[in-house]
Amino acid sequence: MMRSPQLRIVVVLLGLFGSVLVAACASPAGGVTAAADAPQAAASKYVILTFDDGPSPQYTPKVLAILRQYGVKATFFELGQNVARYPSLTRRVYLAGNSVQNHTWTHPDLRRVSWTKFRSEVLNTDRVIRAQTGYTPRCLRPPYGGVNKLTYRRAASLGKTVRLWTVDPADWSRPGTSTIVRRVLANVRNGSVILMHDGGGDRSQTVAALPTILRTLKARGYAFYTTSCT
Ligand SMILES: [Zn+2]
Repeated sequence: MMRSPQLRIVVVLLGLFGSVLVAACASPAGGVTAAADAPQAAASKYVILTFDDGPSPQYTPKVLAILRQYGVKATFFELGQNVARYPSLTRRVYLAGNSVQNHTWTHPDLRRVSWTKFRSEVLNTDRVIRAQTGYTPRCLRPPYGGVNKLTYRRAASLGKTVRLWTVDPADWSRPGTSTIVRRVLANVRNGSVILMHDGGGDRSQTVAALPTILRTLKARGYAFYTTSCT
């Protein structure tokens, strides 16, 4: 089994100290599993790669090709208006084994919209994603990371978990391919949620940065989890 290093530790502790310590040592692994809600729960280090603002015909297929090449799955926070325009791309993202989640319909700052607008932004996006994937997204990523107490409360009332990020290379600002690579690799930690973009503008630097990022993280022993907030 993949989790054999952890199991060995547990077995050794069981032999030495008894079952109380086993429970104490097993709980961090359980916490990791719950946080990532991913099938590859046995890896000791993981990151969650996320792509926002797609799908886009120029960049999403390129991102998918690179992910496939490296055997990596990611989470795509898509805009409803783009899903409605390119539904077959959303389907391709999903069929490739990635998680498709909700990033609103028109990319508003959710702190500044009415409840009616909030609801329609989220639920209409749910509807078009569900039409391509068969499931209703459980994660909501508010545009700009714009959250306050009301945003969290409204998201929860629609059954959503707010999912932000922990590593932001600002790839959308096109700082240069090597800068995107460096910012990701310098800041990544076990459990990092990495923000990148496959839509919303020229994402050629993001696409160019991706192979080096994936190759390096794999070499450092990271697994790649997806998130679906279930
Ligand atoms: Zn966005």
